[in-house]
Amino acid sequence: MDPLWTKLYESAVASGTPNPKIFADTACKYRNKVLELRAKRHKTVLLTEAPKISEGAPAPKKATKKVLAPEHRCKALTLEGRQCGFRAWHGGFCTKHKPVRDEQST
Ligand SMILES: [Zn+2]
Repeated sequence: MDPLWTKLYESAVASGTPNPKIFADTACKYRNKVLELRAKRHKTVLLTEAPKISEGAPAPKKATKKVLAPEHRCKALTLEGRQCGFRAWHGGFCTKHKPVRDEQST
């Protein structure tokens, strides 16, 4: 028997919950469902350096677009230390790298 089920059952009996067995069953089912959904969720991984290109992965596509002049490009640096390749729109930064404004001050 699941120790959590026993614990829930005992607490339900102690607190006078009607149908303590059904309560414990439902609470256990709910907990298992939550754990299952949590395991399925995508996990965010914070990188501190550029990811290594693994063997067998498709080779990165060669840029077919013209490369922007550095003064028109975003001022942000990539994890590899190169200048961001996107066009600068927002005060010298691209859409991805524009500084986040404090919403309460505006
Ligand atoms: Zn950028």
